[in-house]
Amino acid sequence: MAAATTITSVNPADGEVLRSFDAHTADETVERIARGHRAWLAYRQTSFADRARLMSTAADLLDADADEIAAVMTAEMGKTLASAAAEARKCAAGMRFYAERAEAFLADEPGDADSVGAVAAYTRYQPLGVVLAVMPWNFPLWQVIRFAAPALMAGNVGLLKHASNVPQTALYIEELFRRAGFPDGCFQTLLIGSDAVEAVLRDPRVKAATLTGSEPAGRSVAAICGDEVKHTVLELGGSDPFIVMPSADLDKAVAVGVTARTQNNGQSCIAAKRFIVHADVYEEFAAKFTARMAALTVGDPMDPGTDVGPLATEQGRLDVEELVDDALAKGATALCGGTRPDGPGWFYPPTIIAGIAEGMAIHGAEVFGPVASLYRVDGIEEAIELANATEFGLGSNAWTQDSDEQARFIAEIEAGAVFINGMTTSYPGLPFGGVKRSGYGRELAAHGIKEFCNAKTVWVGA
Ligand code: NAP
Repeated sequence: MAAATTITSVNPADGEVLRSFDAHTADETVERIARGHRAWLAYRQTSFADRARLMSTAADLLDADADEIAAVMTAEMGKTLASAAAEARKCAAGMRFYAERAEAFLADEPGDADSVGAVAAYTRYQPLGVVLAVMPWNFPLWQVIRFAAPALMAGNVGLLKHASNVPQTALYIEELFRRAGFPDGCFQTLLIGSDAVEAVLRDPRVKAATLTGSEPAGRSVAAICGDEVKHTVLELGGSDPFIVMPSADLDKAVAVGVTARTQNNGQSCIAAKRFIVHADVYEEFAAKFTARMAALTVGDPMDPGTDVGPLATEQGRLDVEELVDDALAKGATALCGGTRPDGPGWFYPPTIIAGIAEGMAIHGAEVFGPVASLYRVDGIEEAIELANATEFGLGSNAWTQDSDEQARFIAEIEAGAVFINGMTTSYPGLPFGGVKRSGYGRELAAHGIKEFCNAKTVWVGA
């Protein structure tokens, strides 16, 4: 008999194995899909008030567990303890957001009955059924909750295939919804590898899928769902521009730039990755940015004094290192960082690379670590052209007090979001998603809850 596949939690701060779990077999996976489908047949009939009560209970439990689950997240993927606790509390707030608003978001939408010769015409939003969520490790709670809270409030049920390096967090989320009183099967974690995803997507009881992760993973899920004619939402990578113009509040831009590049140890899809700075303020920005990046404390993510912990995986650090080494070998300069430290754990220092040219791999890639690419431009035309010179289109950031420049950035940057004079952030109340190869569909706000609904047209005659 073949040995069971294991899914393992490893501490990226020291490489120690924390826990191992047997992956679910194909039969166990099918049983969970069946349980989810059975749960949905009853759960879809529940009222918004009932679902809101369950969701609010789950939010209260999560708030109470915040410090405990934060320690698990930090141990599994290396984010600092403070940021992990903040993530847990943000999730609880996101759950309450949908508990309070789902009914209004999904209320019947009146149509123009007169123009279609009807007594009544409207759109009704109904749940689809079992939805598979394939999720990444970088915000191991938030990525899941921003899918699960609206999906469950809409009357869908969820199956989670979490990243293989965060099984403890994945199991916690299933348990959280169970403890809150959601009926058996409404939210289940599948402990499976990515090779087992196709069978789940092809099961007729699974009606739709959402994936947050890399482009190859998104392409694979979308291709299978295309073949099955199932709806997908894809939240993929990003290489967000952070543009600084002469009228910007430079100190604020520097402070936000440092956070935006290094939060979550540099592993955020909407991190500022390419700093595009006007020549008039380039030298001053570069000096201040370098001083603050170099002053960050890298170390044990459990330690409250740490700003930047390890990267989540050994491969992740190798990928970052390769991009930096290639750029330096081809003539770029490291204003700070640029060399991995000795010792255990997958640490990489805050780094700024200047003098990037087109032939360097770093120019087009998404750098998933605390490495900023710094560019000098001579004006707004060049800034916008460089901002858009990427296959990605997730978030973007521009710093300027000039209202004409603001209007141009808002109109001309090709991205799912433009933040002016503030950090690109995902808020429950604002839609989140990308264009180009950053994906399609939207999460959060009213847009997010409607993604996994049948917008049913209703026409009633006399
Ligand atoms: P990843 O390798 O694509 O993994 C993400 C998830 O997809 C994991 O659960 C993974 O499972 C699964 N997966 C991988 N290949 C698959 C396949 N062929 N078929 C089905 N599932 C597959 O992503 P990552 O490198 O860990 O995460 C970083 C990426 O996610 C970055 O590009 C980042 O920008 C992006 N991201 C985007 C957003 C957003 O909202 N747009 C948010 C966060 C992260 P296994 O772990 O078992 O391989």
